[in-house]
Amino acid sequence: MTKGKTFIISGPSGVGKSTVLKALFQGRDDLYFSISATTREPREGEVDGVHYHFMDVAGFQSMINEDAFLEYAEYVGNFYGTPKRFVDEAMEQGKDVILDIEVQGALQVYTKRPDTVRIFIAPPSWDELERRLIGRGTDSPEKINKRLVRAKVEFQTANTYDYFVINDTVEQAVREINAIMLAEHCKPAERMKILSE
Ligand code: 5GP
Repeated sequence: MTKGKTFIISGPSGVGKSTVLKALFQGRDDLYFSISATTREPREGEVDGVHYHFMDVAGFQSMINEDAFLEYAEYVGNFYGTPKRFVDEAMEQGKDVILDIEVQGALQVYTKRPDTVRIFIAPPSWDELERRLIGRGTDSPEKINKRLVRAKVEFQTANTYDYFVINDTVEQAVREINAIMLAEHCKPAERMKILSE
């Protein structure tokens, strides 16, 4: 069996990554979503172990000490990290792994594992991003501002990614991500592994 590939999805907070990923995962058991650890407070409706592993700073720090993270980063006052073990297990089972992580973490993963595919998701406009952040109703105006500032910084790194998807409609964004994943599996380096097994 060929190992799965890892795909990183980065993009500004509020761009709609979670909605796009929910649609992408519909009816798929060949994909694995990496559940991150975070020190941020759960938002309404978020479930521990489903959306994130919510933990305090001490718990996060001990995972750092145990070298349990594939990557971790600080983002607008909180820590976020990808537990390594589950990613590796899913890939061994032949599943493709999706990491929803911000740009510093993406760079760490890519540096360690250059065969990772990086996809940047952008909003159709900055006004639309602000509308989506406000519409979500989960963050204070101050937090929204910080997230918007951070979004513009992150956007500057988008040209280092392998692919750029604009989330205008969820359907189109999902179609594009599926096309990217399919194309990546059609690369000779991937396909030739099947014949040489
Ligand atoms: P949010 O607080 O909106 O759920 O996430 C904030 C940002 O953290 C998003 O850009 C999201 O992609 C990123 N993020 C989520 N999990 C991880 C992780 O494990 N590592 C890193 N580096 N970023 C993450």
